[in-house]
Amino acid sequence: MHATTLTTDVLIIGGGFAGLWAARQAATHVKDVLIVDKGPRDWGGLGGMSGGDMITLHEDQDINEWLDEVVFFNDGLCDQLMMLDTLRDSLPRFHDYEAMGHTFTRDGNGNYVRIPQRGLSHVSLTTSAPTGKGGINMRAALLRSMEGCSVRRMGNIMITAITKDGNRASGAVGFFNRSGEPVSIRAKAVLITAGTGGWKASYLQNSMASGCVELALKAGARLRNFEFIDNWNVPKLFAWEGQTVLLPLGGRFINSRNEEFMAERYSPVLGSKTDTQYNIRGMVLEVKAGRGPIVFDTSRIPEKYMEEVTPAAGWMKLNNEKLKNLGVDFFKDKIEWMPQPIASEGGIATDLDGATEVEGLFAAGTAQSLPTGVYFGGLSICHCATSGYKTGDAIGRYAANCDAPAFDQDQAEELLNRELSRLGRTGIAPKDIVRVTQELMAPVDVCILKTERGLERSLKRLEEVKNEFIPVMGAEDPHYLCKMVEARGMLMLTEAYLRSSLERTESRAGHFRADHPCRDDGTPLYWVEIRQHEGDMVIERKELPLNSYPLKPYRYYMDQFTFPLDEIQSFLR
Ligand SMILES: Cc1cc2nc3c(=O)[nH]c(=O)nc-3n(C[C@H](O)[C@H](O)[C@H](O)COP(=O)(O)OP(=O)(O)OC[C@H]3O[C@@H](n4cnc5c(N)ncnc54)[C@H](O)[C@@H]3O)c2cc1C
Repeated sequence: MHATTLTTDVLIIGGGFAGLWAARQAATHVKDVLIVDKGPRDWGGLGGMSGGDMITLHEDQDINEWLDEVVFFNDGLCDQLMMLDTLRDSLPRFHDYEAMGHTFTRDGNGNYVRIPQRGLSHVSLTTSAPTGKGGINMRAALLRSMEGCSVRRMGNIMITAITKDGNRASGAVGFFNRSGEPVSIRAKAVLITAGTGGWKASYLQNSMASGCVELALKAGARLRNFEFIDNWNVPKLFAWEGQTVLLPLGGRFINSRNEEFMAERYSPVLGSKTDTQYNIRGMVLEVKAGRGPIVFDTSRIPEKYMEEVTPAAGWMKLNNEKLKNLGVDFFKDKIEWMPQPIASEGGIATDLDGATEVEGLFAAGTAQSLPTGVYFGGLSICHCATSGYKTGDAIGRYAANCDAPAFDQDQAEELLNRELSRLGRTGIAPKDIVRVTQELMAPVDVCILKTERGLERSLKRLEEVKNEFIPVMGAEDPHYLCKMVEARGMLMLTEAYLRSSLERTESRAGHFRADHPCRDDGTPLYWVEIRQHEGDMVIERKELPLNSYPLKPYRYYMDQFTFPLDEIQSFLR
């Protein structure tokens, strides 16, 4: 089939908030920026579904106090220079949003509503107004602000590979996921803002599938932090987003004895006001001890906040209304919650400008490595804006000052044929791979209280799935071809997670190894990184450049918890 050929200065893969911020900025330097997204044009990625709550360091707050807390929260494993950039740039981007017409919530005195996070003293997010519509409004504001910019935006294009000219990115190939028509795109520089990838859990479903892993690894970039995942608490029977705001205001997880078990047993200082990873460890222990199910109790949220936390718009309002019609009152009924691994927190390793080790290839947003499995609400919206802006600026300047690389047509055709040859073929359906992948991740000794045995068991099965299923996958139509690429990406993501988790033989931040439950303070702090060599993932440790960081880690968030190791080890035996 004849491929559509597009040419641009800067190609942006992924039209989420990071991609949109980057496009605005890149367009100030070059004549043409092209955003492509596998979803509908301008849907805005996860950001459009989000609350729009944003970590923002306001004028009266001290960046050094915040950094100290963030390093503490991450148990020392923090890219301090990137975090400093993120915090420093948060306020200018916050004001940019306001200048675009976006509204953040203010109290009766006209002050911004700031909500502290995870029991920390300084770090807080600023909420968007109205509750439930923050992300929708942010997306509209971003799109409005791009009117008149030299940015083309195209939807329903699935990118399957980055093309190269030697060690330089030269564009990408993919296909229109409605028609199956192949497309090759020539670019002076390429930015990956395709998100990090997840396991099609809960309300994220297809919106977060695939992501950056396959694109980046095959292009020669390095990945980092893949042992860290977003384990999220969700109601068992329906979707509800918002615990990052509800917990600090008094929401609690309680067991069948009506005990706030986190406060009673595992962290008297923090109780439920902590990171989800820690709450989830507590939930597992309670259920294993016969004190389940776990419910979310909002009865202690003061009445004055109820209006603020009740969804007033968007999908959350619709959700709330539907629940009411079914006779369920989220704020009054005892609703069972459960944990699930929803997404990776790993990303592409870059410098502070978002540049990868591959010339002309950049990454931003959740596709760029930053958090380490512990997550304070609002960081993502903030990081998408700050890294999108900064990387957009850098890639725009890069593309404005270089000639176009050579575009190897044969290479592009080979990459396209490899993918499209599966079209029209029956075979293993993508949903079966998705199911198997979810089953590989789900066991408690794989995703929450990790052990070598659990991780190796899933890895062994994953190798079998790769060898047996991938060669016989088929796609009856372009939609299923898209799903097939996503399923393959999920397998790679899972492999990245399992191998990285095995490499980190200690517990720290969002990573808990039941067979290595302590921090390894005897080994210099390291990242676990992944590169590809002859088709295989190679796992490497990279020491943190503590000498170039302002802070030496000296206190650790994880020390505020006592989980009974004998109980954990006995039920994992
Ligand atoms: C319900 C909900 C509420 C949230 N609330 C908040 C909040 O209040 N505050 C906060 O900080 N965070 C929040 N988040 C998280 C935050 O919204 C996201 O982490 C953030 O928007 C991610 O932006 P991104 O641009 O990095 O990636 P994404 O939004 O994931 O965008 C990636 C884009 O790339 C596209 N793509 C992926 N692969 C390909 C491919 N191969 N080819 C072409 N296109 C591709 C996808 O379709 C997608 O549009 C929330 C998330 C959800 C789901």
